[in-house]
Amino acid sequence: MSMQKIDSKANQQKENFKKPDGEDKDKSSVLESRVHTSQLLGKNKSLVLHGGGNTSVKIIEKNILGEEEEILYVKGSGWDLETITADGFSPVRVNHLKKLAELVSLTDSDMVNELVTHLTKSSAPVPSVEAILHAVIPYKFVDHTHADAIVAISNSINGENILRQLYGDEVIYIPYVMPGFDLSKLCAQQLKQELTDDKIGIILFHHGVFSFGETAGESYDRMLYLVEKSQEYLKSNVVTNDAGITPKQDQNNLEDYASLRKNISQAAGFPVIMKRIYSEKTMSFSNRRDIGIVSQQGPATPDHVIRTKRLPMLGREVDKYVHDYKKYFEENEPRAKDRKKILDPAPRVVLDPEFGLCAVGRTSKDANIVGDIYDHTIDIIEWAQGLGGYKALPAKDIFDVEYWELEQAKLNKLNKPPVFSGEVALVTGAASGIGKACVESLLNRGAAVVGIDIHASIKNLHKRPDYLGIQCNVTSASELKGAIEKGVYEFGGIDMLVLNAGIFPPSQRIDSLPLSEWRNVMNINLDANLVLLNRVYPFLKVAAREGRVVIIGSKNVSAPGPGAAAYSVSKAGLNQLARVAALEWGKDRIRINTVHPNAVFDTGLWSDEILSDRAKHYRLSVDEYKRANVLQTEIKSADVAELAIELCGPLFSKTTGAQIPVDGGNERVI
Ligand SMILES: [Zn+2]
Repeated sequence: MSMQKIDSKANQQKENFKKPDGEDKDKSSVLESRVHTSQLLGKNKSLVLHGGGNTSVKIIEKNILGEEEEILYVKGSGWDLETITADGFSPVRVNHLKKLAELVSLTDSDMVNELVTHLTKSSAPVPSVEAILHAVIPYKFVDHTHADAIVAISNSINGENILRQLYGDEVIYIPYVMPGFDLSKLCAQQLKQELTDDKIGIILFHHGVFSFGETAGESYDRMLYLVEKSQEYLKSNVVTNDAGITPKQDQNNLEDYASLRKNISQAAGFPVIMKRIYSEKTMSFSNRRDIGIVSQQGPATPDHVIRTKRLPMLGREVDKYVHDYKKYFEENEPRAKDRKKILDPAPRVVLDPEFGLCAVGRTSKDANIVGDIYDHTIDIIEWAQGLGGYKALPAKDIFDVEYWELEQAKLNKLNKPPVFSGEVALVTGAASGIGKACVESLLNRGAAVVGIDIHASIKNLHKRPDYLGIQCNVTSASELKGAIEKGVYEFGGIDMLVLNAGIFPPSQRIDSLPLSEWRNVMNINLDANLVLLNRVYPFLKVAAREGRVVIIGSKNVSAPGPGAAAYSVSKAGLNQLARVAALEWGKDRIRINTVHPNAVFDTGLWSDEILSDRAKHYRLSVDEYKRANVLQTEIKSADVAELAIELCGPLFSKTTGAQIPVDGGNERVI
């Protein structure tokens, strides 16, 4: 993008928004171009992160009375630019928005009420709180980002001067005010006085940047041009100085990691996911000599505070962090117009010399967002340091955003989170059958799940942030160790363990059962579970709420069948192991319960062919064979999984050492 091109476009006449010819016919294509460049902005992580930034387009439409109205299609809240579609843009009447900007004051909740009551589509999302600002910019397309490079310069010691020199008369400069009505009003006033044809954008100090234009492409190109200018400036002016010390060696302190997550969960008042964001960058940042200064200034742009809190926790002193957070609240709350409700005082970002950057959230998705934001914050801080020093907004301004009316209102509307929200489960044999169904049941209840299985398909069982699939042979102690470590660093610990992996060997009578076969079955069905219990115990002990183990047993424990000696003995051994564990670990508030399924045919073990063979053997139809139990009902993997996972829930919070059949009723068991 050359300067000339931008200049020529900027010089077009556009005092007031004018309807280009043929526009009405082509509303959908205008919206489409709006969607397209919004997504381009959203995909560029150095411009827009997770719900940050917003875009709009103004379109003249005929209403139901046949009257022409100018409508602002502005990003709806809850939408991400990266994935936004036409439905993500809320249509609001521009005239009304412009009149609102003339008001002396307007509370944010009144403003949102005005936005919502002046939509032209009742099913549209709530418009962005910057809707009024978009409306008062007299250009068809408006783009807003929190571009890293511009924010980095703005948050450096001499930032304002640098930006003014860099952009000269190309943009309008707006001092920091709280986003929402106040910012919209200030922008409306300054635009009236300062907007000339040669302006292509607005720089909001300590916040971000706006660009505008008559086409989606023009506004987008101008955004890139403005951002590149700051990027170029950083490239040639940042002085890197080696502020780091060599990170401490990783000392397999996984248990400390899980304990830290438990302490943070307790401070929060609910279980949290804690993700380690391990890289050379995060490790060396966490080990900067001046980390106590550079990391304790505040966020790069105010709305990050909602995700990251104002300050990261340094090291592992959760109590100190909580104390400081409460102090920050008490110092700033009295200034607010209405009384505020304190948020949980737990950190969202941890910088530890040994663990590096750890991101905390109610869910794995939340933790990922925190991690991404702070990863970019590290760049911003280091660039600003290279320009002389990082200097964020004072605490009071950040407090106003963290505790603003609209965020506080959200607190009262928060839905009850799912029962296992913030908790972590590890399931063995999770790629198929009952194990796979257990993963589903856990995910449905809000848990993050580590699924392990010997089959490679485990890795792609689910593609979502709260699932981690690891290919692992449970009989290999070293593979198990690796899988546990990966799982704990991914989610913060292990609160629930589902022991499901096992084999059911072909029928063999004792008189012809080779010792090698016997040992193989014992190894997988019994020994591996001892190792798992042994290795996972330290994490269950420091579970966010309480540790739980569920064993997938078998009807064969109480009613063995001929030809299944090795299987029946292995499951009986596992059953006894579980009972002893229940006795030993009760003091640690770890509950161990067992389900005993029978005749579950929708698993990998049963092909149609084997099933019809077995049915024939008993002179039954396949359907009769499947329902050969007291209740004459078919038992599916999902039935077993639902019961198994329910055992981890509050209904069974006072039950341990229990064994529950899930077999449709078996006469021999009863
Ligand atoms: Zn913004």
